[in-house]
Formats: sequence, structure tokens, C-alpha cells
Amino acid sequence: MNYQAVLEQVAADIAPHIGAGRPAEYIPALAEVDPASFGMAVADLDGRVHGVGDWERPFSTQSITKVFALALALARGGDELWQRVGREPSGNPFNSLVQLEYENGIPRNPFINAGALVVTDRLQTLTGDASSEVLDFLRAESGNPDLAFDQKVAASEAAHGDRNAALAHFMADYGNMRNPVPTVLEHYFWQCSIAMSCRDLALAGRFLARHGLRADGSRLLTRSEAKQVNAVMLTCGTYDAAGDFAYRVGLPGKSGVGGGIVAVIPGQCALCVWSPGLDARGNSVAGVAALDRFTTLTGLSVF
Ligand code: GLN
Repeated sequence: MNYQAVLEQVAADIAPHIGAGRPAEYIPALAEVDPASFGMAVADLDGRVHGVGDWERPFSTQSITKVFALALALARGGDELWQRVGREPSGNPFNSLVQLEYENGIPRNPFINAGALVVTDRLQTLTGDASSEVLDFLRAESGNPDLAFDQKVAASEAAHGDRNAALAHFMADYGNMRNPVPTVLEHYFWQCSIAMSCRDLALAGRFLARHGLRADGSRLLTRSEAKQVNAVMLTCGTYDAAGDFAYRVGLPGKSGVGGGIVAVIPGQCALCVWSPGLDARGNSVAGVAALDRFTTLTGLSVF
């Protein structure tokens, strides 16, 4: 597969979508990004990376980090996590509170904010430093030791984090938090603030294309666990648009409100696309269009 040629074709085909939608504004630091940015990268199983556009420019990873946190929590602590978080699509916005009350403080899945807060809490218990665990893993897998938390973004989110604080306190009341809420929120905001490029993220997602094998050849997840993480990405990774994403793209994918999306073709490659303009559900408009075009042009999908 000539990935470079495909990426160039994709970029040309979706150019009219770039700038559509709006960058996230509820975290003020995210609104400062250039809405005309677009980048896309593919990392193959051997770690060769191809890219187009702004594929080497760092952006705010946000909820994309939820995939890596989940993988680490499963690797370090196993299946016990699933007693505290489900794995069904929520059909609700990523920051919604409503289901939590009638489902007794157990979030639907690890990729909505409530579920990710439970994962952070679990990783904090398992490692003592949840956000550094995620950052260290991302540095190792991307081969980029310069990856860092973005202090400005973390502070901006903390200053406007009442919704996430409400989710965490609500779950604490149901007995579904093991660490103090302020500690969990702090690690969650740090984790979301990590800045990475499409190149970095395509490389970091490669372990999911390699059925759980890390860049250094060691195993993070069993083949079965890697399948499970990919399955939850497919059904829950783009929130209340997961059905439409599966229909259009046909791949496990995880989006973030920074405008990035990581997608996985098991046994083939990992992809990352970035463009900051979001649709009403918080997914990148040009990003989804580019992945849709990629799978249409190549015929590569899980179906
Ligand atoms: N940090 C963001 C939040 O908690 C992540 C949301 C997202 O990327 N969908 O609201």
C-alpha cells in the first residue's frame, strides 16, 4: 500500500471541509488554535510513518489519551476495572450527567468523561501517578522524549472544570472513587493536556494495530485485551456519534476536542488525523471526512 499517495489524495479530496465546524471553546486555551489546520499520518507495523499537511505540529490530545489510560489500567490492573465502568455506548454527550444517576454512579464506558475519571482513579491507585504513567508510555511509544503536559491547557481546563468536578463528586457519592476527587481531577486534566502531533499519535497507537505489542517488542496487552480495547473504541470512541463513525469510517477510533482522531486498522497500521473544527458532538469535521475518504479509497476497514 502506497500510504503517502493515499494521504495526498485524501488531503486534496477533503480540502473543502477544512475550517468547517468550530474549535472547542469551553476550554478557552483550545480556542486559540488556527481553525484551518489539517494534518494526517499513518504508521505501519514496522514504525514507518507517512504524513501530509500539519502532521508534525503538536496539538492538544484531550480525550484521545483515554485510550492509552484504559490500556494501561487494564495492563496494570486487569479486569477488575469493569466492575466500576461499563462498555456500552452511552448515546449521550461525552460530558453528560444524566445516565450516572439512574445507573448508580457506574459510567457507561471508559471514553465518556465520567468513565475516564474512573480509569484515572484506578490508574492512580495502581501506579501512584496516573498522568505520568500515561505521559511516559506516550513518550516511549512515539519515540519522542520531548512530549509534555501543556500547563496552560491544564490550567485552563481546571479553571473551567466544574462539569468534570460534578461528575467525579457524583461518582464519589456512589462509592465509585478510591482517591480524593481533587487528585483524580488534577491527573485527568494533566493527562488531557498532553500535546502531540499526528506523527506522535500514529506511532503511539501502533500497539493496538500490533495486537498489544509495544514499540520495543514487549507486550502491553494480550491479543484478546487489544481486541477488547479496539472494540470499545469502535462502539464508544466518538461518543454519541459512534454509530455514524462506524458507518462512515468502519474503524476503531478515538476523538478528542482538540480536533484529533486516532484510528486503528488491526494488523495493518495506526492513523491519526487532526483538524480543530468540531461538529456538535465534539468530533473533528475534516478529521472524520478524511478517515471516511481513507477507508473508501483503500478498502481497508474492519468490515
Ligand atoms: N478534557 C476534555 C474534557 O474533559 C476532554 C473531552 C474530549 O476531548 N471529548 O472535557
